[in-house]
Formats: sequence, C-alpha cells, structure tokens
Amino acid sequence: MEKWQDILRDSVTSPTLLNEYFNVDVTSLNQVIATFPMRINPYYLQLIQKAGTPLWKQAVPDVAELLDPVCMEDPLGEERLSPVPNLVHKYPDRVLFLVSTQCAMYCRFCTRKRKVGTDRMVISPDTIEAGLDYIRHHPQVREVLLSGGDPLLLPDSQIEYLLSELRAIPSVKVIRIGTRVPCTLPMRVTPKLVAILKKFHPLYINTHFNHPAEITPESSAACTLLADAGIPLGCQTVLLKGVNDTPAVMRELLLKLLEIRVKPYYLFQTDLTRGTNHFRTSTATGIRIMRSLIGHISGMAVPTFALDGPGGKGKIPLTPDYILTRGDKLVFENYCGEICTYPESGDGI
Ligand SMILES: *Cc1c(COP(=O)(O)O)cnc(C)c1O
Ligand code: SF4
Repeated sequence: MEKWQDILRDSVTSPTLLNEYFNVDVTSLNQVIATFPMRINPYYLQLIQKAGTPLWKQAVPDVAELLDPVCMEDPLGEERLSPVPNLVHKYPDRVLFLVSTQCAMYCRFCTRKRKVGTDRMVISPDTIEAGLDYIRHHPQVREVLLSGGDPLLLPDSQIEYLLSELRAIPSVKVIRIGTRVPCTLPMRVTPKLVAILKKFHPLYINTHFNHPAEITPESSAACTLLADAGIPLGCQTVLLKGVNDTPAVMRELLLKLLEIRVKPYYLFQTDLTRGTNHFRTSTATGIRIMRSLIGHISGMAVPTFALDGPGGKGKIPLTPDYILTRGDKLVFENYCGEICTYPESGDGI
C-alpha cells in the first residue's frame, strides 16, 4: 500500500473515535452519520485546531444536517440530466462524469451529499463503460469533467485506464479533473500519479480550497508537483457561513491560492442541498465580498461568483452592479465608488 492509502485507512469515521480528540456529542452525531457519512483523515484532523473553527465546520458532522427545513435531495437535477448513470449532460459541449464514490474527507456542505460516500452511489465497471460509450457516441462533447466523489482516490491504474480511454476519443479535446485531494490529502499527489496525469494533456485540474488555513507546506508541495507537470490548476471555492464569508478571509484565501499557483476559478453560492442549509449565506453577502475584491486585489485572484441554478439551469454569474444609468452615456461606479462616465459610440443595439 502507498503511504496515502495508509493515512486514509486511519481516518476518523465515527463520533466515538472523534471524541478521543475533541469533546463531541456522540449520540447525536451518530444519528447524523447514519445518513451522511463522516471521514476525517489524520492529515486534515491535525489541521483542525479546535472545535467550531472553519476547518472543523467543514469536517465535523452537525445535528443541523438533519434539521434542514428548505433544501432538496438533488438541487441541480443531476439525476434527471443523466442519460446514463453517473454522467450528467447539462451543457451542450461538456459532460460531468462521476467516476468515484469516495473522498479523502466528507465535506459537510457537499452538493452531492445525497450519495457521495454511501451505498446510494453505485459506480461499477458497467457504469464506467456506459459513460465512456455515451461520450464516444456524442461527438459534441469536447470536454469531460471527471468528478465524483474524488477521482484521485481511485488507484493509479484506474485513473490511467480512464484517461487513456478518454484520450482515445477524438472528439474529446479537453479533460478536466475536479479533486479536493490537493487540499484534503495532499500526499495522494505522488510523483507516480503526476507522471500518469501528464501523459494526457490538455488536462486541467480544478481543486477546492475554502480557507487560508488549508494552504500548508504539504498542499503547496502537491500543487507544485501538478503545476510543474504543466497542469493548469484552478480552484472552486464554496461560500460557507462561518468558514469564509468575510472579505478578509476570502481575500487571504484567494491571494494565497495564487501564491501556490492555483488560479481561483469559481466562488459558488451554496447549493440548496438537503443537510447544508446552515452553511448558506445570502447572495448579497457574496456580492458584497466580490465588490471588496474586484480592483482591490490582483484580477488573477478574483474568481467568478456563481449560482448553480436550481433544477439544473446552469451556472449564473452574480456580479456587483457597477452600472448606474445607461443611455448615450454609460454612468458607472469604479471599484473605489467614484462616479465615471463613458460616452457610447452611437451604433445602437
Ligand atoms: C459545473 C458543471 C459543468 C462545468 O461548467 P463550467 O462553467 O464549464 O465550469 C459541466 N457540467 C455540469 C453538469 C456542471 O454542473
Ligand atoms: S471532496 Fe467534493 S465531492 Fe467529496 S465530499 Fe467534499 S465537496 Fe463533496
């Protein structure tokens, strides 16, 4: 077994075990994990300084998960948009292909909480072959996003198999992997894995960091290995109440990501996933944070704030409104709140 597999095997998966590190209410947390599994691997566990901190909130089950009054099982309508199991075809030219049921940690706010890490998610050689076949027969699919669960929790041989099958399909131009491993289990990014990945360019990786305390020497080293292999790295952050919902925390996170060669890509408004309502902020909070970033920090560090439309309507950018009036002149505010004008060209729309 590789070292990362040993680390993963020693994960805390029960409230009783967690109680050896932090004082938790074992009985009520047992009720939560009967529906939504927990897994906190030793690497992430040692990053959690104390109860109630942003890293704690992402990893440790909360009874609020069972008391969610508003949210839905499958807010993005993924099951309905799956022509074959575990393949979501929402946009014309790209598909989301779920290839792993496992993650290095089960994030409490996960959009696919309904199934990730449980026996409600079934991935088998048959579903993988059905997904590959669908892609082979739909040449309009020019980009495949591998997700799950976390694709990088698969064994190296399976990752290599999947990537080589996808690369053998001429219509697939770009492969994108969504993985939280560089953040939650950076030792999974081994030189051997990277040697496999770099054979399948153009390959992009979007990772997922939510708090500056997740950027450590280990996660930085993992990103360096990937970036040195020519893999462009993006980040999909989720806006989470009590975790990163202030301008100061978000700014520190985004600037640190850029330092470890990860380009912030999306900042997501929390989906309406059942069991995650306690993480939801108002969209106004996100827009206010975006206004505090745009122009004030490097544009390279500024992600697109997006809402994934309930029911599978697609991602909608939510941006601060700088425009005051339109007409012969566009009147707008700049990032400092100064009023500016720009005379229109007069060719009309
Ligand atoms: C988010 C998503 C994508 C990718 O969207 P981008 O804007 O290209 O990042 C593709 N398919 C599905 C089903 C998605 O949810
Ligand atoms: S790593 Fe991603 S898929 Fe896995 S539990 Fe966290 S948010 Fe969900």
